[in-house]
Amino acid sequence: MKKLNILDERHKILYKKSIEVEFPLSKEEKKIIKEMLKYLRNSQIEEIATKENLRPGMGLSAVQLGHLKRYFVIVEELKRKENEPQIFKDYIIINPKITSYSEEQIYVEEGEGCLSVNRDVEGIVLRNARITLEYYDIEGNKNTLRARDELSIAIQHEIDHLNGILFFQKIEKNPIKNTTRCI
Ligand code: ZN
Repeated sequence: MKKLNILDERHKILYKKSIEVEFPLSKEEKKIIKEMLKYLRNSQIEEIATKENLRPGMGLSAVQLGHLKRYFVIVEELKRKENEPQIFKDYIIINPKITSYSEEQIYVEEGEGCLSVNRDVEGIVLRNARITLEYYDIEGNKNTLRARDELSIAIQHEIDHLNGILFFQKIEKNPIKNTTRCI
């Protein structure tokens, strides 16, 4: 598989705001989306990730490949019983808008990671535990998605990318309230 050229944090384009996508998507854009999904999926399959030297990731935005377009993909590994094969769910999210947030906040205990940030970053980022999202699919159909916990965090991380923000710019400086849930 051809390796995706994922830009790292030194690239200025990552700090720019992406623009709305117009439909229909071109063949080229659809191909890029498929490659992004394939990368994320392979990166979560240990055998392939080791062989191809892929850093594991759950989400990837177009801007991380140098395209200032408002879309991202997420590959979520679903829970399974022991000895069952890995199951994944793909999300292609275009022109997203968060329409509601929960008040409850959460964070990832070990901190967030990003395929564009190749170093350890100390600290955590507070996110909303649950969100409702309106977005368009690859064919331009409008959809609604409710997300919680890990998926909610991943979506908020990617929407930040569309607005030119990297997670280390949002590291929490205040003490964490004990009502805030850690996952
Ligand atoms: Zn990222």
